[in-house]
Amino acid sequence: MGSEQDETISGGERPDRGADEAPERRTAEAFGQPSAEAPGQPSVGAPAERRPELLGQPPNDMRAALAGFFERRGEPAFRAAQVEEWTFEHGARSFDEMTSLPLELREALATEFSLTPLETETVARARDGTIKHLWRLDDGQRVESVLIPTRDRLTLCLSSQAGCALACRFCATGYFGFRRQLRSAEIVAQYRESRRMARAELGRSISNIVYMGMGEPLANLDEVIGSLRTLHGGFGLGARRITVSTVGLVPGILELARRPEPFELAVSLHAPVHELRLELMPIEKRYPLPDLFAALRTYQSHKNRRISFEYTLIHGVNDEPELARTLADLTYGLTCFVNLIPFNPIPSRPEWRTSSRARIERFSAALSERGVGNAVRRPRGRDIAAACGQLRLASRQSSGQSRREIDAQS
Ligand code: SAH
Repeated sequence: MGSEQDETISGGERPDRGADEAPERRTAEAFGQPSAEAPGQPSVGAPAERRPELLGQPPNDMRAALAGFFERRGEPAFRAAQVEEWTFEHGARSFDEMTSLPLELREALATEFSLTPLETETVARARDGTIKHLWRLDDGQRVESVLIPTRDRLTLCLSSQAGCALACRFCATGYFGFRRQLRSAEIVAQYRESRRMARAELGRSISNIVYMGMGEPLANLDEVIGSLRTLHGGFGLGARRITVSTVGLVPGILELARRPEPFELAVSLHAPVHELRLELMPIEKRYPLPDLFAALRTYQSHKNRRISFEYTLIHGVNDEPELARTLADLTYGLTCFVNLIPFNPIPSRPEWRTSSRARIERFSAALSERGVGNAVRRPRGRDIAAACGQLRLASRQSSGQSRREIDAQS
């Protein structure tokens, strides 16, 4: 394939990421223009002119976009409602599928608007039922999403950017750097396609969405909010079933606090003290813990919702019980819950290991003793590199098997 997407960490084509290179250079893009491309990474095959996308818009905006179109053609207003129904209820991928509309009208719609087709590059199935999709975007970029079934939930983990600029030291996505922002429609299209598959293959609906795939959602704020409003207002997912996960971008947290919908917030913390967090997450330099926690207190005063923290446990790095006690002090007065994630090893950091079970339990107990609710998360989809922070690891394998299914069970 020859694109930079084919890199694997072990492939000898490591981008040179010195420890002190990030985050300034790379985060500049994340805070910059909404659709900025990473320098030197031109899009391959991006359509010169993209038709207006209907998919990533909440119902009111979609209706407004369609109103003029139908009016000009002397069509009744209920046509817009029909398009809405096909989009949100049936997850139509093309206007062709909208068979209750006259053929001529479907053709006219297709020349005017786009429904953001998303190509499936590969589907990988893990032994534990986790399903990972690698999607190909219209300019050749690729992003992943993961379906995670449990007994009572079917959770979809979505990507909000192609790549990520935040360069967290333990994350495979961060290691590869930033490619580009996803548009709202591209985020929503991951849901549309996944829902179709889940309905057809699993006979289940998606019950929960987490913005925990590739990218930093709050560094793509406008498009992510567009997608949140569409998933909630258009596709009818309860706001409390949608979780936005962030490294802790303060302006984005404050913006979510101001919004009317009670979307859930998760914060990737990973360390409760400045020096250690700075080592693990360069964003700590820009928004240090006191600023982050001030924003979280504001958020909670607006929303009165429990905040989740993600804490990845790396052996001997951030898993001392003393740090659990510091974490308890740090979160004092906040209603929160800590998700302890056993570190998923990545090849670029061979010296980092998953904390032992005993150490994880000690850390968890130290939190509990101080009244901080917590749970140890079971890694899902490990055999297909679908677990937290691993989403870039199987890229070469995946792209080499374009359009074929990789079945981890076979
Ligand atoms: N950028 C957002 C969304 C990504 S969520 C955020 O950071 O919150 C993905 C979660 O998995 C984050 O909490 C991230 O820190 C964590 N993670 C990344 N790499 C990991 C790894 N190798 N092992 C375990 N968790 C990891």
